[in-house]
Amino acid sequence: MTQRENNAYRAGPPTPEEFQKFQQQMQDFLKQQMGNVTQGFSRAEPSNSSGGSSNEKKEADFRFDYKPKDIKAHLDRFVIKQDDAKKVLSVALCDHYHHVRLAMGGKQQPNYAKQNILLMGPTGVGKTYLIRSMAELIGVPFVKADATKFSETGYVGGDVEDLVRDLVRKANGDVERAQYGIIYIDEIDKIAGQTGHGGRDVSGRGVQTNLLKLMEETEVSARANNDIAGQIQSMMDQRGGRRQSGTINTKHILFVVSGAFDGLEAIVRKRLREASIGFGAPQKIEDAHERAYELAMTRDFIDYGFEPEFIGRLPVRVVCQPLNTDDLFQILKSSEGSIIRQYEETFGAYGIEVFFRDDGLRRIAEMAAEEKTGARGLMTVCEKIFREFKFELPSTSVKRFVVNREVVDQPSAELQRLLKEHEQHGRVVLRELVNEFSRRFAETHGLQLKFTDEAADRLVVISLEQGKPVRDLCAEKFKDFQFGLKLISKNTGQTEFVIEADAVEAPDKVLSEWVVKSYRGKEEMVNG
Ligand code: ADP
Repeated sequence: MTQRENNAYRAGPPTPEEFQKFQQQMQDFLKQQMGNVTQGFSRAEPSNSSGGSSNEKKEADFRFDYKPKDIKAHLDRFVIKQDDAKKVLSVALCDHYHHVRLAMGGKQQPNYAKQNILLMGPTGVGKTYLIRSMAELIGVPFVKADATKFSETGYVGGDVEDLVRDLVRKANGDVERAQYGIIYIDEIDKIAGQTGHGGRDVSGRGVQTNLLKLMEETEVSARANNDIAGQIQSMMDQRGGRRQSGTINTKHILFVVSGAFDGLEAIVRKRLREASIGFGAPQKIEDAHERAYELAMTRDFIDYGFEPEFIGRLPVRVVCQPLNTDDLFQILKSSEGSIIRQYEETFGAYGIEVFFRDDGLRRIAEMAAEEKTGARGLMTVCEKIFREFKFELPSTSVKRFVVNREVVDQPSAELQRLLKEHEQHGRVVLRELVNEFSRRFAETHGLQLKFTDEAADRLVVISLEQGKPVRDLCAEKFKDFQFGLKLISKNTGQTEFVIEADAVEAPDKVLSEWVVKSYRGKEEMVNG
């Protein structure tokens, strides 16, 4: 008996509960494994080739025939500005996925260096948006996390390998697709220990080392270590001497890391200044104010606190520019992902049309620029402006409104004005309906009902209060008038009747008084 078998027996036979749990876990595990076998790469078109090696088949399965300009054209629809970044990213993405396609077809490029990307730029300028849009276009899974949430050991905070497992989840359990996914790690600058401040941050260095392993090539277990089914799987694999089947290879995963890199420009400027001493190159230093991030070299990132091996695995360096008021205006007006389209849809769901005028959009952009959070400021500003509109309007009969500068500056006051105007407008229409009732009454019965202003207003108010159409209200209130008034008319010859507010409040009472009076009048005439 081997040592391992011994260990297995030492635990004793499982209890029925343990056995049931084990069975369930095995079922889950097998389901996942079978799922992987049957799903394959989900974007694959059915392959026509019946023969050929399995590699050839895989190459046919993995379709990637984009050119950099196709990718850029797609990004242009959504992302405003960032032209240089779009170009560099489009090229890097094509390089990477053409390489993947070739590798899957068995055509390895031995000296190929993976095009992992380092994205620099302030918050909210489109860094994530660019990468997410590219992932959506080519149909690969995408995950994003902040570097600060990981710890070296993974005991506190997350384990970097969780990112890879998240990709599998994003790919609906399809391990194969996950292996060509994109992992985006934000706030990477926060795990660079700054030199000159008492040495490097040890934990940050550990996370860099762990990330480095993923960025190179490693096998990540599909299940986390603290997961029993994961343990059973590796035990079975070990026994059978097999390569672990439930693992994800990171070789073809594209890594993108990003951050604002505050303080990097000072390092770049310092280097340029030192290099220029004696050579007189003031122009270059002058440029460095504007373009410090573009001029950053590997050395500068190491001085910033990155491990040389780590930064060396990020050959594609891209700078995203800050967004000014004009850019924010353009985002609102022309990006297909513009937040105003979202508002149009939200109000549209209640049958309300909203129209954004340019002066309104410009004012939103100005206010968002003051937030200093890039395009994220647009969301903050819009949320504040429209929160009351979203609450109030769906319960009114307002069907359209315009967003101009005044609305952006004073949303509450403008909302009240809109509601009031709408009500006034509504009253005019309701008064028309009262007049229409009287006209039709005259046509049908040959008798004129003359509503005083006060009476008509009263009808409008009751109609609004009771939510009852004016036509129905009038028909209901004056249902007996045709008979009563005809009697009166017969008695007195009167054909015009003034309807005052009291007749609206108590129509039957008023009508019977009139009728009685008309008989009295008739008697007086006969007796008189
Ligand atoms: P970050 O640069 O911090 O990664 P994001 O890409 O997440 O910022 O931007 C947040 C949101 O702001 C995006 O989802 C998008 O709606 C909008 N946005 C940011 N930058 C742009 C841009 N250049 N063009 C269009 N929309 C943008």
